[in-house]
Amino acid sequence: MINKGIRILDKEDIKLYFFGGKGKFILKSNKTGKWFMYKITKPKDKNNDEIYYISVLLDGNYQYLGIIKIDDIDYIRTQKVKVDAVHDCISGIKWLLKQFKNDKEFPTDMEFYHMGICCCCARTLTVKDNIELGIGPICFKNYGKKNKRIMRIVKIKDLQKKIKRK
Ligand SMILES: [Zn+2]
Repeated sequence: MINKGIRILDKEDIKLYFFGGKGKFILKSNKTGKWFMYKITKPKDKNNDEIYYISVLLDGNYQYLGIIKIDDIDYIRTQKVKVDAVHDCISGIKWLLKQFKNDKEFPTDMEFYHMGICCCCARTLTVKDNIELGIGPICFKNYGKKNKRIMRIVKIKDLQKKIKRK
């Protein structure tokens, strides 16, 4: 499964992927070799732009892990979550969000892979798309237009410059 993933190294690119709201990604520890596949989804209520939901693949099924509060970049384990509070997959997601809040480079002892689908619309990316970033060209142009909250977190202007240079 992990060999299908496309690694993202830069933290700003990882943030862009994560806050797209519909991505699928792997977080892998180099220290332990452990990895988990996560899926982000948006609330059905399109007016709710404050949160995303997060699930993790365990025993072949996606299991609900809770809420991501966009403004605070926080994880909330709700009562519906059946996965143990101290499970490594929960530590992993908390760790990732902590990285989003500091100014350091993304640590090399953890690897982030996107699974080849667009972070905003979940469509399979083609080679022509911005496959290394994990976002299709149209979604990239529209990134953050429907959710201004994510623009406070993701430095989209820097990324636009980066893409133009390619
Ligand atoms: Zn898309």
